[in-house]
Amino acid sequence: MALQGMFRPRTVDEALELLAQDPEARLLAGGATLVAMINARVVAPAALVHLAGIRELHGISTLSDGRVRIGAFTRHRDTAACALALGSGTVVRDAASQIANATVRNMGTIGGSISFADPGLDYPPALVAARASVEIASRSGRRTLPAREFFVDWYTTARQDDEIVTAVLLPAPDGGTGLYVKHARVAGDYATASVAIARDGAGRLRVAVGSCGPTPIADDEVDVMLSADASAAAVARAGERLRSLADPLDDVRGTSEYRRMLIPRLLARACRQIHARGAA
Ligand SMILES: Cc1cc2nc3c(=O)[nH]c(=O)nc-3n(C[C@H](O)[C@H](O)[C@H](O)COP(=O)(O)OP(=O)(O)OC[C@H]3O[C@@H](n4cnc5c(N)ncnc54)[C@H](O)[C@@H]3O)c2cc1C
Repeated sequence: MALQGMFRPRTVDEALELLAQDPEARLLAGGATLVAMINARVVAPAALVHLAGIRELHGISTLSDGRVRIGAFTRHRDTAACALALGSGTVVRDAASQIANATVRNMGTIGGSISFADPGLDYPPALVAARASVEIASRSGRRTLPAREFFVDWYTTARQDDEIVTAVLLPAPDGGTGLYVKHARVAGDYATASVAIARDGAGRLRVAVGSCGPTPIADDEVDVMLSADASAAAVARAGERLRSLADPLDDVRGTSEYRRMLIPRLLARACRQIHARGAA
């Protein structure tokens, strides 16, 4: 049955029921992207399912096993201001604080951001570096998958049309840390290229590059190399390998060659900063 108008479910199950009734209905979160697309007549959904009234999608909490749960409707400003110790998940807080400007951070939500999966977004590389997982609900239950598997292609995720992203789960903090290095043309712009880096409590590094391909670029060999050897030569080798894995677009934010050139430089900066943080 085709639905029309704005629906305001109070639970995830009610929202899933609406999606089942009308596969053309679109979920609405902060609206920063979807409302702009409607205004520009890129899409014209007859029915919107607004997630704002679903309590379980709001806020950040620590689970009984120590993991940190960020509800899908948590606004970027609240993730940026999160006062919990996040360990390697600190990279996600750092990325949130660098999204666009205060207006967008007041509107946008983590669930809306990662579901849209624009390759220029700041969260995807941060989630991959943090070893975060994404929780997804369907009428047959909940599933959780690593962020690295959630981002599948340009604007494409592992979420099916009848599913809802309910949360992002960060690993239990174990004394690690993380940070996000973003290069943009001007303050507030999308990244031309970015590097997210996280270190777990055992000193292992995990790196992901953003805005340089359809999905964040991460590579186990690079992580092993950087974890074992902090020298400038090792960082340069890792940077060259990441550069070779990149598949960037030419667009108004930079040519593909310029983006490739940025990767080793941003990686070197990220490594310097995370080692300095360790020393401090
Ligand atoms: C001017 C401007 C500048 C921006 N700059 C940046 C930037 O520098 N860095 C950056 O990372 N981002 C940037 N963004 C993107 C922004 O941060 C938001 O992440 C983005 O707008 C989507 O979040 P939203 O909550 O507004 O989602 P919406 O616009 O409401 O929805 C986006 C899409 O996700 C779907 N959706 C929403 N919630 C869910 C859910 N829980 N489960 C499944 N599907 C869902 C919707 O159906 C829709 O298709 C910018 C946006 C604008 C408008």
